[in-house]
Amino acid sequence: MTQPDFLSQPAPFDTPEFEALLADLSRSAAEVDQQGTWPDWQFSRLAEEGVLGWVIPIEYGGSELDPEMLIFGYERLATACLTTTFNLTQRNGACQRIAGCDNSELKAELLPDLAAGHLFATVGVSHLTTSRQHLSQPAVQAEEIEDTFVLNGQIPWVTGAMPADYVVTGGTCVDGRQILIALPTNLEGVTVEEPVPLLALNGSLTGSIALENVVVDRHYLLAGPVDQVMQRGQGGGTGSVATSSLAVGLVGRSLAHLMRESDRRPELTEVVEPFAKEWSQLRMDLYASARGEGTAETPNLTAESIRQRANSLALRSTQALLAASKGAGFVAGHPAERGVREAMFFLVWSCPQPIVAAALREFACLVD
Ligand SMILES: Cc1cc2nc3c(=O)[nH]c(=O)nc-3n(C[C@H](O)[C@H](O)[C@H](O)COP(=O)(O)OP(=O)(O)OC[C@H]3O[C@@H](n4cnc5c(N)ncnc54)[C@H](O)[C@@H]3O)c2cc1C
Repeated sequence: MTQPDFLSQPAPFDTPEFEALLADLSRSAAEVDQQGTWPDWQFSRLAEEGVLGWVIPIEYGGSELDPEMLIFGYERLATACLTTTFNLTQRNGACQRIAGCDNSELKAELLPDLAAGHLFATVGVSHLTTSRQHLSQPAVQAEEIEDTFVLNGQIPWVTGAMPADYVVTGGTCVDGRQILIALPTNLEGVTVEEPVPLLALNGSLTGSIALENVVVDRHYLLAGPVDQVMQRGQGGGTGSVATSSLAVGLVGRSLAHLMRESDRRPELTEVVEPFAKEWSQLRMDLYASARGEGTAETPNLTAESIRQRANSLALRSTQALLAASKGAGFVAGHPAERGVREAMFFLVWSCPQPIVAAALREFACLVD
């Protein structure tokens, strides 16, 4: 037992170039983690290998992967470097929202440059889904004035806010309806705050953006004003299988290290085997779900059940690697300590309430 059993690489991943990309990302992943700087070079490699076109329609210069292939790509990239892959998903979330909107003029203006890597967009929508939901005031207020929207408030979480040319974000009007907009970051009144220091993924340069009387032309409108704007259009979505594919990729990396250890230490085999079995089943369910095979009779194929299992396995498998690596694995820079910190991220990123509740019940050993 030396390597996790990855499925044979489907096109477009069965190329030496994609393997070289994975090797490059993997080699520099520890450095990205430790330095906490934006993975610029890694993004230029993604551009070279056409990865930046994965979610962009062919007519705008992208390759428009189908959902299963996208998940496969994310999983493999996350195994190599979680920070780069996470940053890519946030950028892709923005591209998907732009590509899925009805504003053809804006699509023609932004998507070709996004596909080529000449522009960078990211997403700041958590205040419409998972963040600050308990507060009575909306985090971002939007007022429609003639052909513009005036935005005030704070976008709490934006990955890659500093390098971003556009942030796909939303605001709530006084009547409760919401808008989604591609906000140019160079508008007057937009202040990108310093990134906050994080437990892991500091290279995501995640921080908040303050908005003070920012006047955005209707030209940048993606959707709305409408109730629950995030329920419309496409994009990975909160707790989607795309988010799970990153956790599954991290599990694959931990298992690869554990398997290498177990080659020299047979006593580890009894734990590696059940982990590998659970991981294989989870992957099969992840891909079946991405292919849309879930039905009312397959509760194990819902996005929620997959994310719950992926979170749990990511936490357990990374901790198993740390325990097996002993004190050496506790030293900063060791793959085991990085994996443990990275696994924690899935407890808080794009995590809908039922998944948080399931994690808390698991920690409290409450059996459903
Ligand atoms: C590294 C990182 C990168 C991210 N990148 C992005 C991104 O690029 N784009 C994006 O849109 N989102 C992003 N997110 C946001 C993420 O998806 C979640 O929305 C976010 O983690 C939710 O956490 P919160 O602290 O904002 O939640 P909140 O629900 O606002 O909780 C904050 C605090 O409020 C209190 N609280 C919570 N619930 C209640 C309640 N019911 N009653 C009373 N008090 C309560 C608690 O003290 C809690 O600590 C990112 C998050 C992280 C950690």
